[in-house]
This record gives sequence, structure tokens and C-alpha cells, in this order.
Amino acid sequence: MRDFSNDHSALALNTATLGHNLDGFGAGWSPEQVIDGCAARGYGGVVFWRREIGANAIAISERAKSAGLKVAGLCRSPFLVGPLAPKDKDAIRDDFRSSIDMAAGLTAPILTIVVGGVEPGTKGMRDSLKLVAERVADACEYAEKVGVRLALEPLHPVYGGDRSCLVTVRDAVDLCNAVNATNLGLAIDVYHVWWDTDLAAQLKRAGENLIYGFHLCDWLSETRDILLDRGMMGDGVADLRGIRHAVEEAGYNGVCEVEVFSKDNWWKRDPNEVLDVVVERFRAVC
Ligand code: ZN
Repeated sequence: MRDFSNDHSALALNTATLGHNLDGFGAGWSPEQVIDGCAARGYGGVVFWRREIGANAIAISERAKSAGLKVAGLCRSPFLVGPLAPKDKDAIRDDFRSSIDMAAGLTAPILTIVVGGVEPGTKGMRDSLKLVAERVADACEYAEKVGVRLALEPLHPVYGGDRSCLVTVRDAVDLCNAVNATNLGLAIDVYHVWWDTDLAAQLKRAGENLIYGFHLCDWLSETRDILLDRGMMGDGVADLRGIRHAVEEAGYNGVCEVEVFSKDNWWKRDPNEVLDVVVERFRAVC
């Protein structure tokens, strides 16, 4: 397992940690300010959300590169099924493709996919997962042509109804195997997998070829908001070292992306403080 106690070159900031995944939260730093703040502290990479990029993908990508920072990924695809997905299958495909185009423009190697919840008119996960497989297979062909890899992120089962019918690493590996595309893999997020006692075995099943990303935060034992009250690493009950050990044993050695959605705590603080604390905690407890 890699030793991060004196080295945070594998650390990437997901800008959701500064509230940039939603309107009206955080201090509102521009992508350029984020790049400069991360580069000054020696971060290795940054992961943006689509709403920050607009039509500026190429310029932002160049700005990051010249600051010595990798654009490690882009969040995220539209929901592909379920009550929060775009209105019909053509709208879903078009938006999925434009998210892939944006990742390509940013030269982000990975686009994260959050699949969406249970398709209206159906019950349980299976029918929705079948639809997801079809829509992802189509997108893999498109993404292949522009050199983008797609990372399926299984979410915690609490989101099963509306945000993700994909709730276990087991089902995500099955989905990758069913689609069988060379540019489809997984993003493993501590928030969504920390409870799973079968995690190490499923990661081994996935193997290094399927693990595209690793996301860090913590699970607060008294979570007040299931979406927007994630903990900073070290403040919760997830076995961060144990999980990273399992991810690395399975062959992953890429960036570790800190992604803390925290509307009542970290999003209210000065981003300079947040960026400093992320570095400290990454070295001390991850
Ligand atoms: Zn994540």
C-alpha cells in the first residue's frame, strides 16, 4: 500500500468539496482559482463538475496543465434511468454524449456515471439495470472514439429509489462484465461502499482493469442529511486505510479524489482552509 504520510502527489480535489456541484453553495471560486489553490498546495489533480465548465473546457484544461495539475475526471453523466433522468431516451442519450464531449475537451480521462434510480412503472432493480446496460453500452462506443473512459459509481443503497439502482460493487462488476467494453469500469467511493463487508472480495473480482477511480470522504455516525452531510476524512466511522488497502490490493494505483458534500460545515468555510485540511487529513488518516 502506498505511503501518503509525506507525499500527497496522488491527491485530487473533487470540486464538490467546495460546494461546486450545486447552485448557491460554497464560496463560488472560479475554476481558475481552484486550479491555482490546488497547484500552490501540491495537489496532483482536480475533478470538475459540468456546471463549472460551460463552454470553456479547452481553456480550463490548458490552465490546469500549465499549473502542473492533472484534470483527473469530470462529474458526471445525466441519470440514465429513474425519476430524475432527462425526459426521454433521446434526451438521455444526447446529454450523455455531451457530457462525454466535455470530458474529451477537458482531456479528462474519466467521466463518472451515476445511473439513476428505479425506472417509473417498474419495481425493484433488475429492469432498471437492464436499461442502464443498454444505455451505457451505446455511450461506451461513442466515448471510445474520443478517448474517454466511463466509470460507473455504485451509490449507497439509501439512494436506490431515485438516484441509483446500482448500489453494490458486486452489481457494478456484473454490469461491466455484461457490457464488456474496454472503456467501462468503476469508481469506488468510500461514502457508498464503507458498510460492505464483501468489498475486498468484490474489488478483487473487479481487478485493476476495472477500477478507474477512488473517492475519499467519511461517514459521520450521526449523519443529518443523507446527501449533503458527508464527513471530512477522519471525522467518521469508515475504515479509510482498510478500504484503500483493498482498492490497492486489487491493483489500483491512481489518484485519490476527495469528495466531501457538506452544506452545513465544509461548504461554509473559507476554501483556503478546506484545501489545507484536506491535505493534512490525506497525509494523516487516509
Ligand atoms: Zn464519488
